[in-house]
Amino acid sequence: METQTAQPKIVAAPPGVEGPGYFATSFDRAIGMAKQYSIWPLPFATSCCGIEFMATMASNYDLARFGAERLSFSPRQADLLMVMGTIAKKMGPVLKQVYEQMAEPRWVIAVGACASSGGIFDTYSVLQGIDQIIPVDVYVPGCPPRPEQIIDGFMRIQDLVHNESIRRRNSPEYKALLESYGIK
Ligand code: SF4
Repeated sequence: METQTAQPKIVAAPPGVEGPGYFATSFDRAIGMAKQYSIWPLPFATSCCGIEFMATMASNYDLARFGAERLSFSPRQADLLMVMGTIAKKMGPVLKQVYEQMAEPRWVIAVGACASSGGIFDTYSVLQGIDQIIPVDVYVPGCPPRPEQIIDGFMRIQDLVHNESIRRRNSPEYKALLESYGIK
């Protein structure tokens, strides 16, 4: 019986100049391509959106296909903070500390309505969006968002990672952004 083997998908080369026997691109683009497919997420899951994330990691959706198989529960070995669930105001300083312990470059996704805006919990004890304490790169809507939406948010992060200049983190604009959050 004839067996079929799956062919690996070759990642598209970054924009560059091509000719017989050579291909030239910028350092930024080459580094961006490598980083884009080797993101280490830190799941900060506090409630039901975390269950959707478990489904996103499991075999049916399999976030590992995007090069993000290695989850990190240590902030120092992570570059993508995924905040999933209701964040009580008491938990805000803990979340901020986790963010501060991550090395640059780092990115943040607010997964679901609670992390993005407080969701249905418009109450004195719940943070009305994590962007009140840390900068957010991508917001994923929904209560809860489906795994496809989480994957879509992750792919938007990949776009940012791929296209970001390696010098952006040293720019005055980025430093001003962190200062506006009181983060050094
Ligand atoms: S957005 Fe909805 S599903 Fe997600 S943590 Fe909040 S209440 Fe739960």
